Amino acid sequence: TSSARRQRVCILGSTGSIGTSTLDVIALHPDTFEVFALTGQRRVDELFAQIVRWRPRFAAVPDAAAANELGARVKAAGIATEVLAGAKALEELASHPDVDQVMAAIVGAAGLPSCLAAARAGKRLLLANKEALVVGGQLFVDAVKQGGATLIPIDSEHSAIFQCLPTDPAAWNDTVDHIILTASGGPFRTRDPATLGDVTPDQACAHPNWVMGRKISVDSATMMNKALEVIEARWLFDLPPERIQVVIHPQSIIHSMVVARDGAVLAQLGTPDMKGPIAFGMSWPARMDSGCEPLDFMKMKALTFEEADAVRFPGLHLSWAALRAEPGSTTVLNAANEIAVEAFLAGRLRFDGIHRVNAQALEQVLPAGGDASSVEALIALDARARDAARAHVGRLAEQR
Ligand code: NAD
Ligand code: MG
Repeated sequence: TSSARRQRVCILGSTGSIGTSTLDVIALHPDTFEVFALTGQRRVDELFAQIVRWRPRFAAVPDAAAANELGARVKAAGIATEVLAGAKALEELASHPDVDQVMAAIVGAAGLPSCLAAARAGKRLLLANKEALVVGGQLFVDAVKQGGATLIPIDSEHSAIFQCLPTDPAAWNDTVDHIILTASGGPFRTRDPATLGDVTPDQACAHPNWVMGRKISVDSATMMNKALEVIEARWLFDLPPERIQVVIHPQSIIHSMVVARDGAVLAQLGTPDMKGPIAFGMSWPARMDSGCEPLDFMKMKALTFEEADAVRFPGLHLSWAALRAEPGSTTVLNAANEIAVEAFLAGRLRFDGIHRVNAQALEQVLPAGGDASSVEALIALDARARDAARAHVGRLAEQR
C-alpha cells in the first residue's frame, strides 16, 4: 500500500557491475526502495558520485585512509552520509536493524563474513556473490536457517531455476529430477584449444553476451564460473552433484532449466541483462519492472546447444570432483582460482595455467584434521589454499 514504508537496501559492492545495475533498478522504483548503505573498495570516486546521487545513511570502504578521505569529501559536500572504515563495517551494515534487503555483490571469498552477518540477522539476502556460498557451503546454509533469513539467488542461472521451482522449498525435492545450468561458453568457445596459452586478459574479459567484472569474466572464459555455479546450485537447491548438469547455449537466452519428475522441462528466458534477476530478487514473490529489453521472438535467431568439451574446459569438471571430495574441497578450489585469476590478470600466469593451479590445489590442500565446520577453519583452509596456489604460480612462472 502507499502508506507502507520503503524497503531499505544495503548494497555491498555498489561500485561493481552488479552494484550499479542494482542502483539502476532502484532508480525505477523510488517509492518502493531506499538506499540505506553503499560500499566499495578501490573506486572511491565512483562511490562518492553514488553517495551524492543517493544520499545513503551509511557508506563504507575497507581501507581506513580511503574512508577518511571519502568522509572529508562527503562532509565538505554538505552530505549527512556517515562513512565507515574496515571489513567489520561491512558486517555491521549487512546486519543493521534498519536494513530490509542486502545485495551481496562483493566479488570473491572476501564477501563471506558480510553474507554470514546478513544471514544471521535474518535479512532478505540477495546473493550475487557466489564465491561466498561456494566457500561457506553447509555453514552458510545453516546460518540462513538459524537466522531465519530469506536467501534469493541473483546469479542469472540460479534465479532462473528459482523462478521455475514451486514457491514452497519443501516441494522441490519431489518436483525436480535434475536441473540444467546453461553456459554461454565464453569468448573461447570455438577457439583452437592449442592457442589458449597465449590469450591476453583483455581477450578473456571480452564476453560475447554479458558485461561483467573482470574476475567473473575470466571465470566465464575458463568455465570456472560454471564450476562455481554447479557448487552454488548444490547448496541453494539442496541437490546432489549428479542431479546438476551443464549445457552450452551460446545465445544466453535460456537462463537455465528444471527437468521435473514427469519429464517436463521448465525454462526461464530473457535478454542477457542482470537487471532481470536483480529486480526479481528485490520484488519476489511479486514482480516489477526491471528495465530489461523484452525478448523479441520475431527477431530471435536459432537457440543452439552443445556439450561442454572437457579438453577445452577442464575446470568445469573440478566442481563435481570437489563436491564429491571431503568437505572444504570447494573452499580450496575457490581460493586457488581467485589467486590464479588474479595472477593471470596481472600477467604472471598463462591462461591455461589457471586450471593447473586449481587442479593442483584441489589435490594437495586438505582441511587440517579434516575440519571444515567453522568459519575459522574455512578461513584457515582458504589461506592454505591461497599459499599453495601462489607457490604453484611461482613454479609455473619459472618454467616459462
Ligand atoms: P565487480 O568487480 O564489478 O564488483 C565487485 C565489487 O566488490 C566492487 O564494488 C568492489 O569495490 C567490491 N570489492 C571487491 N573486493 C572487495 C573486498 N575485498 N572488500 C570489499 N569490497 C570489495 O564484480 P561483479 O561483476 O559486479 O560481480 C560481483 C559478484 O556477483 C561476483 O561474485 C560475481 O561472481 C557475481 N555475479 C556477477 C554477475 C555480473 O553480471 N557481473 C553475474 C552473476 C554473478
Ligand atoms: Mg551466472
